[in-house]
Amino acid sequence: MDLADLKKLLGPEQPSFRARQLFDALYRQRVENLSDITNLPQDIRHQLLANASVGLPELEQRYDSGDGTRRYLLRLADNRTVESVWMPEENRDTVCISSQVGCPVDCRFCLTALMGLERNLTAGEIVGQVLYVARANGLAVPRERLNIVMMGMGEPLLNLDNVLKATRLLTDQTGLGLSEKRITVSTSGIIPKMDELGAADIRPKLAISLNASTEEQRRELMPITRKYHLRELIEACKRYPLRAWEKLTFEYVLLKNVNDSEEDARRVLRLLAHLNCKVNLIALNPGPGIPFETPDEERVHRFQQILRRAMPCFIRKPRGRDIFAACGQLKRVASENLVAIESAFTSPA
Ligand code: SAH
Ligand code: SF4
Repeated sequence: MDLADLKKLLGPEQPSFRARQLFDALYRQRVENLSDITNLPQDIRHQLLANASVGLPELEQRYDSGDGTRRYLLRLADNRTVESVWMPEENRDTVCISSQVGCPVDCRFCLTALMGLERNLTAGEIVGQVLYVARANGLAVPRERLNIVMMGMGEPLLNLDNVLKATRLLTDQTGLGLSEKRITVSTSGIIPKMDELGAADIRPKLAISLNASTEEQRRELMPITRKYHLRELIEACKRYPLRAWEKLTFEYVLLKNVNDSEEDARRVLRLLAHLNCKVNLIALNPGPGIPFETPDEERVHRFQQILRRAMPCFIRKPRGRDIFAACGQLKRVASENLVAIESAFTSPA
């Protein structure tokens, strides 16, 4: 709930500073029970307790990777579950959160796609993942070193209103106080929503999953390209209103012998040549039912070298592959299935 929601909850007879007090208690002091908000008069507390509760998602299951990554399967109020991933590093920590239960976009290389869409997450459920994971890892928010990436389950731009509301809640300086510069949303390329995002006052940084170097190839890998063509996607990127400190990020999942050739790299270079951007390469994280292979390291490096001629290009380190926490692997894979899944890693490439 934002301030306007809290005002509504309290009712029109309450002065507006009461909503401010409530906001402060929830987002700055982070109380866990309404009865702990002792600066509110008791009758208001009683009224609140009858109509509302403070809640975070609940832990269903946690998986710990050898590299420090933790994958959380979190249960929502309606018993559906989503995944959030904690990735500690030396100089920063990243929380990867979900925006939907499942995903309606049918990318061929992604495990979440196999779930289809169950529902959108509310703004509270999006913020709740951050708060849950931060608390579980002993981290006080705000923290300079905390980064949020909306790159878990779901297509965030198909739930844009809630993603924007969550961003406003996370960045409110009187509440959680995170910086917009430390929140990134990743999209498969929902063009009209990119324009809408660009028009928002408070918004995360934008990353675009490119994943192909030609219209045809992208249509094969990401069927959403039939609706939102690659050419138009690049046009939308050209007109996207970047802030002074901002660059676009492109993500490119490398699939062995499919989109990882030197020619592909040169085509990507041409596509992105006039954009203020950087590229993150992701070697495919394998999964059961995913009909692609991971390219060799050498090929990934070659791809990077070519792109580096014109723009910053990084290879995203796979995090938590062993617990199915890496990009494209979030599908609520339960522990009993992990054993079966190990074969996906040990089978010859
Ligand atoms: N739906 C959004 C954000 C979630 S996916 C989007 O598609 O951008 C986050 C990133 O993981 C995307 O860049 C996507 O291309 C990538 N990805 C999906 N499946 C993958 C896989 N199997 N291996 C590596 N990266 C994958
Ligand atoms: Fe959805 Fe992103 Fe997976 Fe595509 S890659 S199916 S858009 S989560």
